[in-house]
Amino acid sequence: MRDTWPLLEQIAFPPIRRGPLHTLQVNVGYRCNQSCVHCHVNAGPNRTEEMPREVADVVLAFLERRRISTLDITGGAPELNAQFRGLVTGARDMGVHVIDRCNLTILEVPGQEDLAAFLAAQQVEIVASMPCYLEDNVERQRGKGVFDASIRGLRRLNALGYGRDGSGLVLNLVYNPQGPALPPAQDRLETDYKRVLGEHHGIVFNRLYTLANMPIQRFGAILIAKGEFDRYLDLLQHAHLDANLDQVMCRNLISVDWRGFVYDCDFNQMLDLPLGYGARERMQLSDLLDADVEELPIRVAGHCYGCTAGQGSSCGGALKEAAE
Ligand code: SF4
Ligand code: SF4
Repeated sequence: MRDTWPLLEQIAFPPIRRGPLHTLQVNVGYRCNQSCVHCHVNAGPNRTEEMPREVADVVLAFLERRRISTLDITGGAPELNAQFRGLVTGARDMGVHVIDRCNLTILEVPGQEDLAAFLAAQQVEIVASMPCYLEDNVERQRGKGVFDASIRGLRRLNALGYGRDGSGLVLNLVYNPQGPALPPAQDRLETDYKRVLGEHHGIVFNRLYTLANMPIQRFGAILIAKGEFDRYLDLLQHAHLDANLDQVMCRNLISVDWRGFVYDCDFNQMLDLPLGYGARERMQLSDLLDADVEELPIRVAGHCYGCTAGQGSSCGGALKEAAE
């Protein structure tokens, strides 16, 4: 697989600095029950990286010490990690809001039969990938059988109250384009998703987040192989809006990898660009228990246009809307 970093690092991006920290995004490992084409983590069933107990303990200590309000757990399929449930209950016991980045099909994997009920009992917000409301498009991107399994997963979550008014159980879906194009307007697409998933499958959900594909890892390698890398980067750069710079997620979030090393965001984690802290080449989360990262410069390069193009992209969807 071709690495896109040598190309991305040559592309200048406006300098930005960190703001107040309120979210810890933890990638507990790259093992996943799926192997999606667009996956920026390059996750799959054969990946063996897993966050050990000692690192999960540091995560919980950090949440408490730094008074972090949100723990955002991602992977791979984070629920496959042995530390997942301990992280969730530990954080919830402290009153921390927890987000699970769930691929939906994991809800049917043997051994995970009680996962949906566990997430509901802990009032975990679920952010689930659903790249289209049409079966063909989902299966082209995420694999055969994924659409039906995702629909069954959404129905199971709805049955527990997820996505329903007044339940307090939040279910948000994530859309990303099939190829090297910008996502359509989030509001309009959300209306379409709600209509089609509701009418055809009886499914309800809270918000749809539209995200641009990042030109890194598996998706980046495909762009290079097809000769589309430069055109896609041009598209992102031409659609860049300075107004989005204030809202990019790295301003208020730290990303932690399965070994406990820290990064400005999950994308930088995948590019192995550690969070810059003085002369230190790499920092562990444990090094930051008593350190303030506010005002530190953020490691930026060409991939960052994936966050600032058009309506913008963040782990909470389009930036324009997040700001409204
Ligand atoms: S489900 Fe998510 S983590 Fe797993 S391969 Fe697909 S995009 Fe990657
Ligand atoms: S990829 Fe996005 S979130 Fe990550 S450092 Fe660049 S602008 Fe920030």
